[in-house]
Amino acid sequence: MLNSGEEMTEDGSGPGSSMRQALQAADPATLLLALVQISGERHWLEAAKPFIRGPMSYQETMPEPLRAQIRDRLAQVLGEAARSGKLAPRQADDALLREMMAVAAGEVVPDQYIAMMREDLTEDSLASRSLQWRAPPKPEALADTHVVIIGAGMSGLYAGIQLQQAGIPFVILEKNAAVGGTWYENVYPGCGVDTPNHFYSYAFEPNHDWSHFFAKRDELWNYFERVADKYDLRKHIRLGTEVIDARYDEASDRWRIAAQAADGTRQELSARVLVSAVGVLNRPKLPDIDGLPSFAGPAFHTARWDRDFDWRGKRVAMIGTGASGHQVGPSIASDVNRLTIFQRSPHWVVPNPNYHEGVSDGKKWALANIPFYLRWYRFQLFWGFADGLHEALKVDPDWPQPKRSLNALNEKHRLFMERHMRSELADRPDLLEKVIPDYPAYGKRILIDNHWFRMLTRPNVDLVTDPIDRIVPEGIRTADGKVWPADALVFATGFQVSKMLHPMSITGRDGRNLREFWGADDAKAYLGLTVPGFPNFFMLTGPNTGLAHGGNQIFMTECAVRHMMLCLRELVESGRRSIECRPEVYENYNREVDAMHARMVWTHKGMTNWYRNRNGRVFAITPWRLVEYWKMTSSFNPAEYQLR
Ligand code: NAP
Repeated sequence: MLNSGEEMTEDGSGPGSSMRQALQAADPATLLLALVQISGERHWLEAAKPFIRGPMSYQETMPEPLRAQIRDRLAQVLGEAARSGKLAPRQADDALLREMMAVAAGEVVPDQYIAMMREDLTEDSLASRSLQWRAPPKPEALADTHVVIIGAGMSGLYAGIQLQQAGIPFVILEKNAAVGGTWYENVYPGCGVDTPNHFYSYAFEPNHDWSHFFAKRDELWNYFERVADKYDLRKHIRLGTEVIDARYDEASDRWRIAAQAADGTRQELSARVLVSAVGVLNRPKLPDIDGLPSFAGPAFHTARWDRDFDWRGKRVAMIGTGASGHQVGPSIASDVNRLTIFQRSPHWVVPNPNYHEGVSDGKKWALANIPFYLRWYRFQLFWGFADGLHEALKVDPDWPQPKRSLNALNEKHRLFMERHMRSELADRPDLLEKVIPDYPAYGKRILIDNHWFRMLTRPNVDLVTDPIDRIVPEGIRTADGKVWPADALVFATGFQVSKMLHPMSITGRDGRNLREFWGADDAKAYLGLTVPGFPNFFMLTGPNTGLAHGGNQIFMTECAVRHMMLCLRELVESGRRSIECRPEVYENYNREVDAMHARMVWTHKGMTNWYRNRNGRVFAITPWRLVEYWKMTSSFNPAEYQLR
């Protein structure tokens, strides 16, 4: 773990100076946690606690002498370890972990997190995170469990890696010409992640070299490309191959899969197990606006961005102000002649001081070399961008202002964001009136301020909130009769999420078709993963597994794949031919999901969002805290499944 030990000295001179510089650049609170983890010296927590108000680096205000003491002691501990050639971290007991998590988060963290954190601290390699067989599986049993994975994006690659680790044969069919899914497909200007990268990466495959805290598309895509190479997945991947149809053959208990290659030829495959890893945000939704085909210039969706389109000097009209539009607008505003943005409803937008920041070399070094630094940093991000926000999403039935917020914390977050908007647009009450949402914070996806408000104040940018009447050859006409001229149209209008797995046809036992079983827009699954009547079929990023308040979709996939692997272990070791969840387990789970969602922000009537269907049922995103999903997926209860 201490892989640069020979470079370290305690006094900051000579070869050890790289460590000194890194310690200066690293986050003091995270260093403190690494120090306590290594040394077991609890007293540092007491000293630092009053100065840590939250998990983000900018919420830590330790006085410099205390920071220096932490750095000195850590340098000493690491120096000693380097000299002796071994690092012997103390085993943190539950009490210490509880205390460390509370300091890391800047608030009390429930005991539920201890087991998850312990796992994250100890299982830092792929091998330790992989399936453990209870008895060595027979080679013919493994061969018989052949798996077809649909999609080579983030979750398909991960499923492939875990199957490979377990020795289960598999093939990945990918419709695109490359791996990487969403990060391959989206090339619009400004495309990037809004979950910090050191969290948004596989737990076993950290990238210490992210250039920014929030990296852009090329770097993300390269990460997944590298993973495909490093884990030797390419030999299993068939690119340019789109699955059209999959049917479960009860006579053989195998899936018959029909796919179409890029040249139109049809391929037939057979597999014991079918895994859908197709993602949910990849079938563009074009707006249903009269006159769309009449537009005279180029017109395209953000996810189908025309790489040859040169926006410089052009009049561009953009419809939609969600996460995609929010990244496109500020990226092109300074180059276009005019940018006209059509906003149907505003989003809540949060400032983040790190959003445009690069990661210093010292911090990269710390991430790569200081034991436990990355693990504790990830926990801080986990808290700040996911579970730490969960309380703000819950409806307090006694809250006196239910239209504008849900509870005291939700109101606090609202006021924080409102203050930011007011300070950014202090001189523009006309804009302020348009951009401050009237619904509670988190009802729609929260956006991180990408200099959006500054962009709106540019003289060449218009924010139009009048409803669109129709598209005309020369631009967009609004309901007041005004035509907004445009040379090009950009549709930042989102995706066809409600038709999950569309346009594939999946038919399970007894000829049960998944689309008919679900209905047009009401996808459900047990743990987002399995559906009764569809044996040996697993969905990754399935129903109710999306994250809407932040969070890290990779974490959700890691949990889902773990549970899938436990199901496959049961299948292989039992010598049976099929496994599927019991109907009552599926029903009960979805009842719990619905009951939980009824008390969460996403069912609030004050706004629309893409998480719920026509009947108001939230089908796309999870109501659970990540730790709860981790817990539910980390064990296997045979009583919940039927093996045949
Ligand atoms: P989106 O959040 O669904 O936003 C679509 C936008 O288009 C909304 O502003 C919507 O208005 C508007 N719109 C749709 N149809 C319209 C119409 N007929 N007339 C006028 N306006 C219309 O889509 P997205 O921005 O592509 O984002 C989808 C999801 O992808 C995000 O929520 C996020 O999960 C993910 N994403 C993430 C990132 C990132 O990590 N940075 C980047 C991009 C996307 P209404 O709100 O009124 O419906």
